Amino acid sequence: MGLITGSFVNVCIDRLPMQFADKELRSRLLKSSELSSLLKNHVQDRTLTLFKPTRSFCFYCGHQLRWFENVPLLSYIFIKGRCRTCNAALGSRLFWTETMHGLWYGIFGWLFQNWIWSLFAGINFSFLWILAYCRSHQQVRIKLYYAGGVLLAVNFMVYFFIRK
Ligand SMILES: [Zn+2]
Repeated sequence: MGLITGSFVNVCIDRLPMQFADKELRSRLLKSSELSSLLKNHVQDRTLTLFKPTRSFCFYCGHQLRWFENVPLLSYIFIKGRCRTCNAALGSRLFWTETMHGLWYGIFGWLFQNWIWSLFAGINFSFLWILAYCRSHQQVRIKLYYAGGVLLAVNFMVYFFIRK
């Protein structure tokens, strides 16, 4: 479960700053020579969101990931951290996010021996992980602070609910 969540967290870190990009960041992205025309079209038309397009694609050449390139952790090792089409390095963050999520979700499960506690420890961990990577993007950071407030309230509710 940690590995799957880690995979989704990577999508959040990649897409949220673009989804909520202000004018300045968008014009900077559109001028960048490293991004694919597919990605630039998404930035231009503001069509890239967390859930659209559903399938993951390479930000450099636009290559859409096949199922076997989308298996958490194993795929990264299998493709050696590079896009199979354009050979662009995908960055070690993809690997570390999935590894640390797998590891910590496992530790939480072992530590708490209770699926609700473990699940919430995991969700909080994932939230902080996303916040750490997106903190330099002001638009995303503000939204994450609101989400963090809601998450904190849910944490307290679960805590008092479980204690009874
Ligand atoms: Zn590529």
